[in-house]
Amino acid sequence: MMATDAARTRRAWLLMALAPADRSYGGNDGYEDDISTFYSWNSRVPNSRAIAVGDRVVLWDKLGLLGFSTVEKITTGTGTVDRRLCPTCGSADIKYRKTKSPDWRCFDCYTEFDDADTEVVEVTTFRADYGSEWVDAPGVMTAAEVRRLALSPRSQHAMREADWQVVQDALVSKGRQA
Ligand SMILES: [Zn+2]
Repeated sequence: MMATDAARTRRAWLLMALAPADRSYGGNDGYEDDISTFYSWNSRVPNSRAIAVGDRVVLWDKLGLLGFSTVEKITTGTGTVDRRLCPTCGSADIKYRKTKSPDWRCFDCYTEFDDADTEVVEVTTFRADYGSEWVDAPGVMTAAEVRRLALSPRSQHAMREADWQVVQDALVSKGRQA
């Protein structure tokens, strides 16, 4: 096997699954996920074009591991997302605050406000299907343990690259065959 093929078979992606109410980044809307069968994202997400058929995927959320699988198909399309903007300065660097009022805060001009402006942005949409090889593994690892599997453990991205061999070793150490 050539080195590039070996690298390909080892590649995994840690995919963060978020409940709609938890999507705190102001700029992103319009995701839909059924975590055991497919994951969808758009071209505004870092690494959006890097994931490929044959890559391993590891689904997790803020509570920990959910399961893992292998990508069977990537479907691309076009769509739009609503981008939320600060009504005062127009910045997209705003954050929704679940527990504070006003609901939103701008990190550029520091205004706080209840209603963000909305701008419709065209995006490329991506969907990875992986349902046939899905393995349920809820709670097998904590979120902190999953986060450490990423090549960049401090990454905040929804899609984080990892080494499948490292993921497999971690699963085996938890008593799970991968
Ligand atoms: Zn602002």
